[in-house]
Amino acid sequence: MTYSRVGVVTGANKGIGLAVVRQLALQYPKSPLNNGPLLIYLTARDKGRGEAAVKDLEQDTQLKNAKALKANGGLSEIKFHALDITDSSSIKTLVDDLKEAHGDGVDFVINNAGIALDGFNAQVVKTTLGCNYYSTLEACHAFLPLLKPTGRMVNVASMSGKLNKYSDEIRNRFLASKTEDDVTSIMKDFASAVEAGKEKEAGFPSAAYAVSKAGLVGATRALARTEKENGGKVLINSCCPGYVDTDMSKHNGTKSPDEGAQTPVMLAIQDIKGQTGEFWQSEKLFEW
Ligand code: NDP
Repeated sequence: MTYSRVGVVTGANKGIGLAVVRQLALQYPKSPLNNGPLLIYLTARDKGRGEAAVKDLEQDTQLKNAKALKANGGLSEIKFHALDITDSSSIKTLVDDLKEAHGDGVDFVINNAGIALDGFNAQVVKTTLGCNYYSTLEACHAFLPLLKPTGRMVNVASMSGKLNKYSDEIRNRFLASKTEDDVTSIMKDFASAVEAGKEKEAGFPSAAYAVSKAGLVGATRALARTEKENGGKVLINSCCPGYVDTDMSKHNGTKSPDEGAQTPVMLAIQDIKGQTGEFWQSEKLFEW
């Protein structure tokens, strides 16, 4: 099968990630460049949950009937691949398989996988930063070399990563961060301050998830800057999906998963006028 584009979505067995896969297949635009079906890798850390999600999508009537898919020369294909972003060997297996299957590269990656734990203590901070910041960035670095020069990387962050809850000093450090190391040093200072029970005095909120997502927004800017400095053209952006009705929001979110999927999908497949290193919400640029 010849595909016109190939994409990867992480944490896609449920919630926003699953809706992103569905919306990608529904919205894939017809254009002279897209004269063939889209192949989407629905990835999940649990094989059973991932394969069940692919089966559900295969039964989805809206997808089966979608005009956009037919116009693009066939139904988009959705394949499962295992990926636990906190497991380096799992990242490597996916990257190796993608290299072998798609020697000319991948068109987009949507880093959606994330966690939000209850409570606040040093362990919660370690686990949350571990998944939402460090592992997500490890996945970014592993995927970037696979992306075509016209490729896109989308990191699903959050409005909670906005910089309105920090001391001026920490906020300015975030804003002045030019490299990923600059952002990582803020994450380290946060973790140390929590260990010492002094995060408030150090200018941080007592909120692991919010800080992990602020870090992800900052690191996404830094990645995009480095990509540009190296002469690369991959567009790398972060976004907030909005407050979405999923397990993570304990179903309190006001948007449906399909609505939450709109901004990440737009950043992956629509014309975004070359914008990179930005933070988006509701399909618009958003101040960090
Ligand atoms: P869910 O909890 O419903 O889904 C999270 C997904 O991430 C699941 O598929 C989960 O897999 C997966 N995941 C968790 N850890 C890993 C891992 N180590 N490796 C691979 N996959 C993993 O959350 P949402 O759909 O609501 O959230 C999706 C993204 O959107 C997250 O990054 C979240 O932070 C962000 N977001 C969500 C908001 C909301 O209102 N819901 C608001 C702002 C941002 P499993 O089923 O195996 O646990």
